[in-house]
Order: sequence, then C-alpha cells, then structure tokens
Amino acid sequence: MPERHVSGWNLQNSYKKLSPGLFTETKPQRASGPEMVQWNKEVAESLGINKEWLQSEEGIKVLAGNQLPEGSEPIAQSYAGHQFGHFNRLGDGRAILLGEQLAVNGDRVDIQLKGAGRTPYSRGGDGRAALGPMLREYLISEAMHGLGIPTTRSLAVVETGDDIARETLLPGAILTRVAASHIRVGTFQFAATFTKPEELQALADYTIERHYPELLKEDHPYVALLRKVIEVQAGLIAKWQAVGFIHGVMNTDNMTISGETIDYGPCAFMDTYDPATVFSSIDVQGRYAYGNQPYMAGWNLARFAESLIPLLHDETEEAVKIAQEEIGEYNRIYIHKWTGEMRAKLGLFTAEESDKALIHDLLEIMKEQGADYTNTFIALTYRTLDQPAFKEWIVRWQERLKRQEGSEAEVEQLMKNHNPAVIPRNYYVEKALTAAVNKGDYHLFEKLLAVLAHPYAHTAEQEKYKEVPVQDDNYQTYCGT
Ligand code: AMP
Ligand code: MG
Repeated sequence: MPERHVSGWNLQNSYKKLSPGLFTETKPQRASGPEMVQWNKEVAESLGINKEWLQSEEGIKVLAGNQLPEGSEPIAQSYAGHQFGHFNRLGDGRAILLGEQLAVNGDRVDIQLKGAGRTPYSRGGDGRAALGPMLREYLISEAMHGLGIPTTRSLAVVETGDDIARETLLPGAILTRVAASHIRVGTFQFAATFTKPEELQALADYTIERHYPELLKEDHPYVALLRKVIEVQAGLIAKWQAVGFIHGVMNTDNMTISGETIDYGPCAFMDTYDPATVFSSIDVQGRYAYGNQPYMAGWNLARFAESLIPLLHDETEEAVKIAQEEIGEYNRIYIHKWTGEMRAKLGLFTAEESDKALIHDLLEIMKEQGADYTNTFIALTYRTLDQPAFKEWIVRWQERLKRQEGSEAEVEQLMKNHNPAVIPRNYYVEKALTAAVNKGDYHLFEKLLAVLAHPYAHTAEQEKYKEVPVQDDNYQTYCGT
C-alpha cells in the first residue's frame, strides 16, 4: 500500500491499465483565484483526507486543479452514449479524473474534478462549469445520499475566480466528485464500437473485479454482469420513483455500471404528483418524464446488453438470445422492487397480490386531486390525510393493515423510515442557490443541506420545509453546461 501523505491522499490509477483508447492523459487548467465555498466533512473523513489540510491553501489548490495531489496521473475518460436517443462519441469534456482513492473502509473510489477545463473531448465546449449548477449537484447528491439512494458524493466546491461565458457571464466553479467509478453504459458502448474485442473484454473484466468481484466465480461472468447491472439499476430507479426524483437526462452516458445516480444537471423533485412531470428545458418531448424513467432505464440497459454481445457467447445468434432473455427480466425485477418500496411507504410488512391495485389507486387519486406527492405520504404517515377524495381508499388501506401482524407503532416507524419529511424542493433549492451565487450568502444553502442530511428524522425544523409555496407552473431546470 502506498504511504499516506499528510494530506491523506493515496491515489492510484488502475484505469490506466486498460486500452489507451479509453482515456487521454490530461491536466486540469489553471484557476486564477480559487476559493473554497463548500466542503464535506463526512466525505473527507471517509476518504481519509486530512481536514485541516483540505482547507489550507495547498488543499484548495488541489481542489482547483492548480496542483496535483500525490500519486495523481490525471486522465479524461472516453465514452459514447445515446443522448435523447442519438448515438454520439463523447468523453469527459469538462471533467478530469485525478485517480482512485483507497478510502478508509478499503473501497476504491474515483476522485474527479468537474469543471476543470478543456480536454480532448470538449468539442466546442469550454470545459468549465458555473457555480450555480455545481452547488446544485453538491446539494442534490448529498440529499440523495441522505435519502438512502445510491449516488456519487461531493467532496467540495471551489470557485475558480474566473468568469465563464454562458448567456451571461457567470462565476466558474469546480466540484470534486467522488464515485464508486465513472464507468457508464456509454463506456461499454464506446469500447464495443471503437475498440478491439479484447479491449472490451478487458473493460468487462476490470468492471467485474472492481464492482462485482463475487461474479468471478460464476460460470458465465459476463452474463452475470449484465444480470447484476439490470438488478442494481432496477433497484435504483425504484428508489427514484419512490421519492419523486426526476433525473432529467437519462442518456446512456449518464447511467453507471455501479448503480449510483450520476450527473445532477437538470434534475428536480416532483411536487404535484403527475407522471408526465418534466422540468428540464432540453427535454422538449418528455422522453425523461417522471413516469417514463423506468422504461428509459430498460431502454438504456438494452443498449448495455447490446454492447456486451461479443462477450455473452461465441455465436452471435446465441449471444443475442441470452441478451434478450436477460433484458426480458427487467420489467419484472423493476416492478418487484418498486412494489417493495411502495409497500414500505404504506407501512406494509407483508406482500399481498392486491397491494398493486391499492398502490395504483392511491396514485390515481393523487393525480386527479393534483396532490403533493411527498406531503400525501407524510399525511398518511401522521394519519392526517382527511380530504374526502381519499376517504374510501383509506378504509381499504386500514383493512389491509389489519391483515398483517405488527403494532401501530411499528407501522408508523416503517412509514417514517420510507417517507421523507423533507426533499430538496425546487422552491427552496432555488432560493438557496440564488443567495449563494448572487450574494455569496451560504446561510440558506447550509440550512437546507443540514435538514436534507437526515430526511427520515421527522424533526420540527423539517416541518418548515413541508410548505409548497405557489410556484411558476413552468418551472424549468437547465443543464448548466
Ligand atoms: P452532461 O450533460 O454533463 O452529461 O454532458 C454531456 C457531454 O457534454 C459530456 O461528454 C460532457 O463532458 C460534455 N460537456 C458538458 N459541458 C461541457 C463543457 N462546458 N465543455 C465541454 N464539454 C462539456
Ligand atoms: Mg454526463
């Protein structure tokens, strides 16, 4: 094991052993006047990074890309991806992978600077990121972690001191992203399309060893990899749906093989329950609307299966059959996981066939009533849902609760553990970001971050965020690229 420096970094670069086509050595660009605006104590600790050092001038230089941490051999990764259905050759156009940190618990995690300048994959872009969207990613990724949803984490945001040109001039910033890895469905698509079969195989072997070493003992590890990714992604999307999270850009380059949520661009949480909800300004057709997310994940997984075809069987016809069989299981697995999430939200410990209808009927009433998704489940949890439209349904639900063992207190606790008291609502997120970006005032941001850290605590402080202030119906989110 490499020795830990006073900073705590002990970076390695195992990805560089793969095909040179999969990355390009690239250094971050200089930031002219870096300043730390947020850093994450919990993440720093889990990485074994010295917290005093992180806040020092040298620490900030590293987070700004002005100095490389010990052991770093920075690269930009190549990948491809279906963007809104269209296949493109892509890559880290504004992100630099510093290396892999061996965390305190032994996990190997990617450390990436997002917004660190141009790379060979930048195409027409400037490789930079604006402060607002980087703070947004920091806030929402930490909120997702609080909600118990697999996600990349955020170590820090630094302002670069350089303005970047968007519609107006905006302050530039760099987010330090921590991920199980940045291997995406699009990485496999890239390898399958643009590298040799043995390079695709090496990528698959690397992925299995890094994320799912238990699959090495399977008779068909690549089939097992496909099956595993289908399972973890079905589980992830079920959790998104359960809390009303809308990713906004579920392109195949934004879907990880590790099963972590990645790339918080135009994402947002749904207020009023409506499967057609879309916030992203670029998603004109509603491809990635809330209700479409499970289908789009299935579509993306089919692209993953396609990229694995050369590895699934020596004969292509047989390989296609295997891929289809595995993909054919996705729906069932997803429904199973989603129903499990929804049962817990309703306080159900047991499974009955009729639960599906119970869940669907509740959602149907919520849609008709234009009910707030999160607050309806909170009202059920606290037994304060008294609108006449729900009356009959509540009787059915209470009868169902009686058909299971478990005290009222146990039911309430299960519901509290699955129905967040607070989510990062657009209204509060925008207010916090506006104050931070326009005034340098992080008061609201930090308060929101704090309540979002433990959304199942149901504290008095969290009550205040239940209110859904009247908001522009055309609320839109932007990629911030
Ligand atoms: P995203 O929407 O962040 O998933 O990015 C999609 C693709 O566009 C990726 O290949 C990014 O690296 C690239 N990209 C996004 N923003 C920029 C930028 N400012 N400069 C260069 N490339 C970018
Ligand atoms: Mg992306």
